[in-house]
Amino acid sequence: METLDWKSLPFGYIKTDYNVRCYYRNGKWGELEISSSEYINLHMAATALHYGQEAFEGMKAFMGKDGGIRLFRWDENSLRMKKSAEGIMLAEVPDSLFHDAIVKCVKMNKHFVPPYGTWASLYIRPLLIGSGAQVGVKAANEYLFLVFVTPVGPYFKELFKPVHMMITRTFDRAAPLGTGNIKVGGNYAASLRALDVAHHQGYASALFLDAREKKFIDEAGPANFFGIRDNTYITPESHSILPSITNKSLQQIARDMGMKVEIRPVPIEELETFEEVGACGTAAVISPVSLIFDEATGKTYHFGENDQPGPISAKLYEILTGIQMGDLPDPYGWIEFVD
Ligand SMILES: *Cc1c(COP(=O)(O)O)cnc(C)c1O
Repeated sequence: METLDWKSLPFGYIKTDYNVRCYYRNGKWGELEISSSEYINLHMAATALHYGQEAFEGMKAFMGKDGGIRLFRWDENSLRMKKSAEGIMLAEVPDSLFHDAIVKCVKMNKHFVPPYGTWASLYIRPLLIGSGAQVGVKAANEYLFLVFVTPVGPYFKELFKPVHMMITRTFDRAAPLGTGNIKVGGNYAASLRALDVAHHQGYASALFLDAREKKFIDEAGPANFFGIRDNTYITPESHSILPSITNKSLQQIARDMGMKVEIRPVPIEELETFEEVGACGTAAVISPVSLIFDEATGKTYHFGENDQPGPISAKLYEILTGIQMGDLPDPYGWIEFVD
């Protein structure tokens, strides 16, 4: 294969050699199939296309100094995909099938795992879609579970650089009792316009508020929100937030650093009191936020000094990425090697 320029990989799609697929038909999952095609043959009346019956996951494999390939907390992704399946009536993918599929896909594309030291990784994208034909509004009777991988560079070209965000009040990403808490494509479609408006105004992302009262911080674009004050890690509790595995991991690390962790509604006014603010998710791990603009009040909130990440965010980032890349011990059992 051609050698990739690992150090300048974008966070985007690059073709690899293989993907894996499994079909659910007549009430059961079939055999895992290996494909070298980037295309799927899909019925034009598939429910995924018309009614958004589609869920996905996102995780990464990392190569350590020792050359070992590490998966990070795949079991959490598998569990979350089951919750997504339950939420929009997809066929559930058993843990064993999820595991076999991601391991097989990583192994078959081994030479696309970026080497240690490049800050790049192999992004793993599991996809679960209603593939059966349906015209009436109901769940499909056939499903496709597909996993592909693609090598990705770090989300931010300048590693770990603070971003500016804008509070959006003209769009909601998810309804109070909607599907915000599961990882389904529909939430993303619903957030695109708000993200586009934020980008056009020069912000890296849109900060969504709770859809009911517009009083509390909800999701930070496609990432979770956290604030830090008085040695406390504070992250919103809300039915419309997607439970981020990165966030959950950061909470654990924060506790073990001797910090308090609070998971509760976070009123907008509390922004004023935070020493550090960040958005977290698999893609960037942590995006420190140095500025939040609220167009409704004209207020601008600043965090940190000289547009530098705060010391606690930096420490959390260092520990989590250290565990992922094998530079630090893994006291939590988060890493599984792909041999
Ligand atoms: C995937 C996702 C996240 C991040 O979750 P991780 O498990 O940390 O990658 C956060 N918010 C939304 C809306 C997401 O879809």
